[in-house]
Amino acid sequence: MSADGRRWAVVPAAGRGERYGGRAPKQYERILGRPVLSWTLAALLADRSIRRVVVALAAGDRRFGRLDEASDARVQACPGGAERSISVANALESLAGAARDEDWVLVHDAARPCLQAADLRALIDGVGRDPVGGLLAVPVGETLKRAGSNGRVESTVSRDGLWRALTPQMFRYGLLKRALALCIDRERNVTDEAAAIEAMGLRPRLVRGRGDNIKITHPEDRGLAAAILAARARG
Ligand code: C5P
Repeated sequence: MSADGRRWAVVPAAGRGERYGGRAPKQYERILGRPVLSWTLAALLADRSIRRVVVALAAGDRRFGRLDEASDARVQACPGGAERSISVANALESLAGAARDEDWVLVHDAARPCLQAADLRALIDGVGRDPVGGLLAVPVGETLKRAGSNGRVESTVSRDGLWRALTPQMFRYGLLKRALALCIDRERNVTDEAAAIEAMGLRPRLVRGRGDNIKITHPEDRGLAAAILAARARG
């Protein structure tokens, strides 16, 4: 299968960001004067090989329409769902009729504004001929502890062979649609697309990505993302 198959992108942006707890949902927090989602969409739109970017939005979202990228001809919105997997499934559904089963879909978190063009290219090149698909990921560097009761360590978990899953994650349209539908049907909660593919007995490819492709989850992550983007702007 060719690495230059047709490519689409999906951005689940319907989360409430409960762990973040800011005034605005984290995808609309401003970093260097620009909303997080705006940075994220610009990173994907910079790749001209992506035909369309579908953004899944929370019900009643009035902020999306104010972004510059919302009026880009390659951007379209769709309703999100109660879980991330439902938001992604809805976005895939909105591509029905346009995307073919063998086309690639790149799913990227709205809350990851620091994606670099080189990482996007590494994923496309690394996975573009893979029969299953894959994801950007980083080997775990820290020692891991499993928490027990009362905030105490129950055990140390070996970090050997452990990777942190990032996004984008890139799978064939038809396969990803089936995998997510199965998980939703079985009420199996998956927090990324790879987990849905794994539930089908398949093994997604890990493509080494940059550790600074961070997901804004906690309030302190915003300052980190600002520093990463500012350093990049300075060259
Ligand atoms: O909460 P978390 O950071 O894991 O969310 C990852 C991404 O999934 C975010 O971009 C968030 O907006 C999105 N999401 C969604 N629909 C949900 C929950 C999360 O689109 N119901």
